[in-house]
Amino acid sequence: MTALKPLRNFGIIAHVDAGKTTLSERVLFLTGAIHKKGEVHDGAARTDSHAIEKRKGITIQSAAVTCQWRDAVLQLIDTPGHVDFGVEVERALRVLDGAVVVLDGVAGVEPQTESVWRRADGHALPRIVFVNKLDRQGADLWRCVREVEGRFGARAAVLAVPWLNDDGGLVGVVDVISGRAFGPGDATLGGVPARVVDDVVRRRAVLVELVSSYDDELLGQALAGAIGDDVLTASVRRATLARAIVPVLCGAAYKDVGVSALLDAVVAYLPDARSRGAASDALSGLAFKVVYDDFGAMTLVRLFSGSLSRGDVYETAKTKGSARVGRLVRVFVDDLTEIESASAGEIVGLVGTALPLGDTLGPVGAVRALEAVRVDAPVVAVAIEEEGASQERGRLSKALAKLTATDPSLVVDVDQDTGQTLLRGQGELHLEVAVERLRSDFGVAVRAGRPQVAYQETVRQPASATTVHKKQGGGPGQYAKVSVRLVPLGRGDGVRVVDVTRGGAVPASFAQAFERGARAGLLRGTGLGPVTDVDVTLEDGATHAQDSSELAFAIAGEKAIAELLAQSPTLALEPYVTLTVTTPSGSVGDVVGDLARRRATVLGQEAGAGDVVVVRARAPVAELFGYATDLRGRTKGRATVAQAADGMDVVPERVALALRER
Ligand code: GDP
Repeated sequence: MTALKPLRNFGIIAHVDAGKTTLSERVLFLTGAIHKKGEVHDGAARTDSHAIEKRKGITIQSAAVTCQWRDAVLQLIDTPGHVDFGVEVERALRVLDGAVVVLDGVAGVEPQTESVWRRADGHALPRIVFVNKLDRQGADLWRCVREVEGRFGARAAVLAVPWLNDDGGLVGVVDVISGRAFGPGDATLGGVPARVVDDVVRRRAVLVELVSSYDDELLGQALAGAIGDDVLTASVRRATLARAIVPVLCGAAYKDVGVSALLDAVVAYLPDARSRGAASDALSGLAFKVVYDDFGAMTLVRLFSGSLSRGDVYETAKTKGSARVGRLVRVFVDDLTEIESASAGEIVGLVGTALPLGDTLGPVGAVRALEAVRVDAPVVAVAIEEEGASQERGRLSKALAKLTATDPSLVVDVDQDTGQTLLRGQGELHLEVAVERLRSDFGVAVRAGRPQVAYQETVRQPASATTVHKKQGGGPGQYAKVSVRLVPLGRGDGVRVVDVTRGGAVPASFAQAFERGARAGLLRGTGLGPVTDVDVTLEDGATHAQDSSELAFAIAGEKAIAELLAQSPTLALEPYVTLTVTTPSGSVGDVVGDLARRRATVLGQEAGAGDVVVVRARAPVAELFGYATDLRGRTKGRATVAQAADGMDVVPERVALALRER
């Protein structure tokens, strides 16, 4: 990769089924990264590397592959569309610089389009919209454009229009700026009919007017005379990077129509991967994915600035260690290519290294942590155990440690009453995939119980206690005294532990041990789930000259929490989701009645395209197991549902009572 070639790190994001996998596949084919087209239906698409993804036909892992388009280098970072994989989307958004949002030309803006659009807003990502499936009956580019403008308040700049034959069949797409027409693949088409040419001329004038409103220079030239293609392209680029406009391309990925124009647009309008830092600056890289194969671990790192060469020594912010770069590779679809060095903007693999997700690499002694990836709290748990009689000790826990390092939205803990291992995650599908990965990636076959809601607890009111942990007598003793205050925080605030002791009453290392103990006590809770949204303050304490130790303070911390929780009754919290149900209007009454029985609050209803009503509601996860199947049964398969995690809320008293009696 020579330093001068344009470099684009981009991702493709979409609602499930919009055609993201098909489009990724076509991109890789067109760029020569793969030579045979895989079909999603066959489960052969290359960015889906795990067996389970093939089986389910969805894309879960954020694969990052390098390919070449004309004189530019593209690094395509794959993102999952399913809401159960929010953390995968978040981590992909952290390392890419721009995105292509795929819409189904028939369905338009869908619930997950909205959620990924808002996540992309959160990362200030410039983006391009690709309206797909224009070969399908009922597809409508202009309705999609209106929806993008209406729902997101974006200004759409339409850069390609479909060329339809007299029967409405899709022949190709025409570039609004150059007037060139493209058929399947990268083929240029001649003989564009006059009515299409007229449309394109009109669209170009509309585009010039739109972009001039953001660009005085262009406005001046527009008034003076005709605008050159290069001038217009440069102006569209500036407005896109400023996120004033969103370029809209279109086509049919399945038919290979419009994909080359889309790739040209990715190069022309999305940010340069080197714009976030120079190769001559200090090293700063983000570890965003660990992959395991038969040969061991490999960490994928996005370099934001500086460079990394074989043999270099770097330091990591989270793990606080230094290490030497061994084998350094670039990731292609089918293979890894060993390289000597890489610099700002590039994505590289560190072979033989497993760094925690979100860790930052920097110069020794001067590493600065980049903002970590946001992780949503788990909502569903399953009990798991290893299958088979000859269980090698520790095999499951080792595999779980690796799995959670690669996916921090998975949490492992042990049920205090039953001793069972619990795996908590973002949804039923998330856990199903995790269990499958334990088998396929780590060779540990596990049996999983029925999914259960991941409850949490919090406290109702402040409480204080002084706890002494003492074991004195013959031999070395234990002594720790702590005065602790526990105060409820706001919903979603998590756990905060602070030490306000003064005058060396509790030395720093003992205070840290206290914190470990207190956190363990909170994790244990009172039986329903971990305690969250609380502030723990170590107000005072005392030590004994011989008998105090870190262990004694850790035990005192755990004991103090148990006493405080016994003193002040806890509140049970349960996870909620927002549901978007799309149903034929005749079934609305039935759907809403059923939602009410599931303790849902209906947030709104609106008429959708055709004879369809979209119902938005918020409901507890506990009432939604099997909901999608039930809904299909209720509406003869005509209604669909999408959901997104929506925080934790207090369990109603009568439900909580039943839970505690279980
Ligand atoms: P993803 O869930 O967004 O990755 O979507 P897929 O790529 O798996 O596509 C979903 C379905 O739509 C598959 O059956 C594809 O074959 C089909 N599909 C994708 N692109 C097109 C297209 O341009 N036209 C038509 N008619 N079907 C398409």
